[in-house]
Amino acid sequence: MLKFTWTHIERHQLITFNYSPDNPELKEYWDNRDARVSRTKAENENSKFQANIYKRQKYCCPICHQNLIYSEEDIHLHHIIPRKKNGGDDSRNLIYMHQSCHYKLHAKGTNTPEALKLLGLTPADYLKLERITQTWHNRQRQDKK
Ligand SMILES: [Zn+2]
Ligand SMILES: [Zn+2]
Repeated sequence: MLKFTWTHIERHQLITFNYSPDNPELKEYWDNRDARVSRTKAENENSKFQANIYKRQKYCCPICHQNLIYSEEDIHLHHIIPRKKNGGDDSRNLIYMHQSCHYKLHAKGTNTPEALKLLGLTPADYLKLERITQTWHNRQRQDKK
């Protein structure tokens, strides 16, 4: 009886493959799998982030008011408060527009009254954004700790 059990266990071990992440033979498999999972997660989060910006601006270019989704032109992502002026990557500081509209906007300067007018923003909106991006920067600093 004992002998029988022993044989049974041995046979069982022979046909059971070790799928554990600690199995060195499978290390590459698990590395690739982890990379794939985190890449998909990042892609999903990124597309959610982009979709939020599009939704907020109702899929329209703020400069020419045409729909961005069906545009054949390249779409650019503009920082309303420029990075140089402490603007962060908070989605509320980002806005999609056509490439040509983007150039038109930058020709007015980045955060001049004319540029803000083109974007349909008031100086009060701008001040609000400054606070939002400040909060974004503080949060980034905290995450790094
Ligand atoms: Zn446009
Ligand atoms: Zn820009």
